[in-house]
Amino acid sequence: MTGRLLPTGTCWCGCGQETAIGSFFLPGHDKIAEAAVVLEEYGGVPAFLAQHGYAPGGKNPCEVLTAWKQRTRQRIKRPRSTPSS
Ligand SMILES: [Zn+2]
Repeated sequence: MTGRLLPTGTCWCGCGQETAIGSFFLPGHDKIAEAAVVLEEYGGVPAFLAQHGYAPGGKNPCEVLTAWKQRTRQRIKRPRSTPSS
């Protein structure tokens, strides 16, 4: 598995432009990168979904997203160590 990812100061889409501190991408460039990888590696979204078990009859992307949002909300509510500000 991949370890914790950290922004590098340059957009991860490959455009070569600088990003704001703490950002992986310029606004909207995450979607450019995502689309490029899906097209190049899978040929399109249906093949991408099927490859990961999300074809009809498999895992349901809408349900997974709803569950992910609920988990994320709970994670945000939990108290964390506060960074010095
Ligand atoms: Zn970019």
